[in-house]
Amino acid sequence: MAEKQWIGHPCFDEKAKHIFSRVHLPVAPKCNIQCKFCDRKYDCLNESRPGVTSVVLSPGQALVYLDKIMARIPNVSVMGIAGPGDPMANPVETLETLSLVRKKYPDMLLCLATNGLMLPQYVDQLAQLKTSHVTVTVNAVDPDIGSQIYAWVRDGKHILRDREAAEFLLSRQIEGIKLLKSKGIVVKVNFILIPGINDGHISEVAKMVSSLGADIFNCMPLIPSSGSDFGQLPSPSSEMVTTARAAAGEYIVQMKHCARCRADAVGLIGQSMDEEALNDLKNCSVLPIHPYDNRPYVAVATMEGFLVNQHLGRAEEFYIYDKIDSGFNLKGARKSPPTGLGDERWKLMAEILNDCRVVLVNAAGGRPVDFLKKAGIEVIEMDGLIEQGLEHVFNGAPLPGKRMKKGCSCGQGSQELSLSVATACSSKSCGGGSSGCGGASSGCGGNGLGCL
Ligand code: SF4
Ligand code: SF4
Repeated sequence: MAEKQWIGHPCFDEKAKHIFSRVHLPVAPKCNIQCKFCDRKYDCLNESRPGVTSVVLSPGQALVYLDKIMARIPNVSVMGIAGPGDPMANPVETLETLSLVRKKYPDMLLCLATNGLMLPQYVDQLAQLKTSHVTVTVNAVDPDIGSQIYAWVRDGKHILRDREAAEFLLSRQIEGIKLLKSKGIVVKVNFILIPGINDGHISEVAKMVSSLGADIFNCMPLIPSSGSDFGQLPSPSSEMVTTARAAAGEYIVQMKHCARCRADAVGLIGQSMDEEALNDLKNCSVLPIHPYDNRPYVAVATMEGFLVNQHLGRAEEFYIYDKIDSGFNLKGARKSPPTGLGDERWKLMAEILNDCRVVLVNAAGGRPVDFLKKAGIEVIEMDGLIEQGLEHVFNGAPLPGKRMKKGCSCGQGSQELSLSVATACSSKSCGGGSSGCGGASSGCGGNGLGCL
């Protein structure tokens, strides 16, 4: 490995950790496996560990946030995506974020952390975006041990369990690491040290990943979290950690300065997030999902032109508004495509609304939300006055009433969030329901994984 790849990355190069900062952009809420140590939390300021974040941002919001960080915090050399779920379980958001950052900050080191399940599919795109560092978490290379660590693993629409799940995940991790090395990407392997489960297995893991070409190994002691299956296990003792690292060190270089950072960490390693960064993060989370979007209009599903009170699929027309100096201007109405066309209807709807950044609706199904989202149109579900919805989209004002819903892209309807994403879904964890639901109320991201 060329030594210059290490330079400037505070996680991979211990000498850099007092000089260079990293910023994690929390754009990846979903996960595609369930580790028994994982307990993802949102809006939790009191815990500092992987899988915890205050908010989830869209790629566009994340870029605005990054701009603020770059203007204020010196020596930010790395942008990483570390959850709160798995970046490759959120490929659209992850690749868009990497692409936006690469365009705006060509010298930035790009980094991400993954469980490896979907890695092989995306290595080419990661390499094209000049992603230089990838962390893959490998907790076992023996499927019998892996089966004790993973509750389930998703293979497309199928949920695998037990040994089959562990074997499948391992096969993807092996393939992913090989592909990353074939592209010259620096690979770190994270290993969550779980007493009584895999503490005697670390040598085998280190030996195998070293043979695959991995560059550095990060043995991370389990943080038992009460919301997870392994919540009652003890933390590894410092002797156990030292012994484990020494065993792994027979095969591969060890990282020993990992601070087990949050999915929204920023600054020098080990430094807490300052209040200004936290405020920036929260403020960015209530921006439109495409804040740099120059589409001027907002479409509204309404029955009488006063309230947002129509379902997306039942709306026969949309009122179209733009912003003017004195407030908001009704430009006119556009007919919705006829019903009975299946997915073609949603494609036509996206074309009809292609100059709109947002559609305000009272409710929406997952399928049309997906189509509109792919066309760059955000669907916001809300109750209240049209004026209040427009204030939110154009001016960042909070929405009225008890709830705001943002269209969910998991195909299972929408998720209800509290007033804003900044305060959304406090302390909810996934619980391993295997629904893979993607918004801020799903859990993902882990007690020991979401790490660069
Ligand atoms: Fe997914 Fe959590 Fe495991 Fe990470 S630690 S791979 S987010 S279940
Ligand atoms: Fe670096 Fe560890 Fe923090 Fe990841 S969790 S960013 S490897 S210090």
